[in-house]
Amino acid sequence: MNKKENILIIGAGLCGSLLALRLAQRGYKVEVYESRPDLRKVDISAGRSINLALSDRGLKALRLCGMEEKAREICIPMYGRLMHDTAGNTFSSNYSGRDNEYINSISRGDLNALLLDEAEKHENVTLYFNKRCQKVAIENTIAHFKDYETDEEFTVNATVLFGTDGAGSILRKSYISERKFLFSYAQNYLNHGYKELEIPADKTGNHQISKGHLHIWPRGDFMLIALPNMDGSFTVTLFLSYDEGEFNFDNLISEEKITAFFEKEFPDALALIPNILEEFTNNPTGPLGTVKCSPWFYKNKTLLLGDSSHAIVPFYGQGMNASFEDVVVFDEILDKNVGDWQAVFKAYQKARKIDTDAIADLAIDNFYEMRDHVANPLFKEKRKIEMD
Ligand code: FAD
Repeated sequence: MNKKENILIIGAGLCGSLLALRLAQRGYKVEVYESRPDLRKVDISAGRSINLALSDRGLKALRLCGMEEKAREICIPMYGRLMHDTAGNTFSSNYSGRDNEYINSISRGDLNALLLDEAEKHENVTLYFNKRCQKVAIENTIAHFKDYETDEEFTVNATVLFGTDGAGSILRKSYISERKFLFSYAQNYLNHGYKELEIPADKTGNHQISKGHLHIWPRGDFMLIALPNMDGSFTVTLFLSYDEGEFNFDNLISEEKITAFFEKEFPDALALIPNILEEFTNNPTGPLGTVKCSPWFYKNKTLLLGDSSHAIVPFYGQGMNASFEDVVVFDEILDKNVGDWQAVFKAYQKARKIDTDAIADLAIDNFYEMRDHVANPLFKEKRKIEMD
């Protein structure tokens, strides 16, 4: 395989930046085009999925690229789930009986920035921001972009093109619009969306509730969860139906109704979220969907990785971890098939598809488990945990 060949990556999110780093470490010449501004210079979190649960699978991928230790420095270990009932009682459910087993809460932006910084250290990597891919001509691997700063449109030729452009992938849409091959595709949305809120740090900069837990307020048809941040705050996520039940996103439109909802269902959380009305009104409501498609590749030319090929709902906390694992599996297969991209793509999909379909289904199952079953007394530990 000629390492001078041009590799084009569309999307510098979590998967794209890790893939760029790994391919750069292997000596390839890589160009990455990202539609958003450089998150290391501009805060673009805007109320969307600020922190994530990073598990062993994700850490393994970071280890492959020599990034595990740096990532661990910005992780907060969560040893179990802490359930909150409406009376304010809390019950713990540890992830395992052993102290050294935990998942990590990590900032999406900080992790992404870490990977971009590391990728950029390689002179064979060039990162471009504010450049949105509009379509891909897959037969001749030409990507069409629009520069958001200048409004100019331009094209980029590549030998091989990777779509790590997330659940709304333009490469995947190009597979459909170009009609070059039989492409199977399904996107299914839950009737629930999500909205992020914040529990700020206390006056001394510390966490107001236990930072060693993933907090859950399960309420049957909806739930609230909270993951700790390094600055003492928690990112809180409300999962709620758009239009069903007594309370839903469509009818929570007045201050009175929002307050009444939180007072009734989440009084202990409400007491910790001082800007509830402002945040509830201004933060976007995001959809929750699953993408399954096949094949992920076209000849020896293009490949989908990460959410673009297998977006899943977040209830197993595994979307990023699975996207990182994509890079590990891809890297292993590249070792065996250097010189033949089509063989790599084919073997990669064969190795990965069953697992990513399985986690997609498990994630939906866990949606029901988290909102219903974790509230069941049988799952509660005998010992009540006092809040830190
Ligand atoms: P993305 O992170 O979506 O990155 C895609 C990148 O491509 C973005 O930077 C985007 O700007 C860019 N892009 C998009 N279109 C274009 C274009 N046309 N041109 C150029 N660039 C483009 N996963 C976990 O493992 N643990 C969790 O706890 C967890 N929690 C989650 C909570 C919520 C509420 C949600 C919604 C998701 C959660 N996930 C979690 C899933 C995780 O966010 C995704 O699986 C992960 O971000 C996928 O990475 P990606 O790089 O494939 O896609």
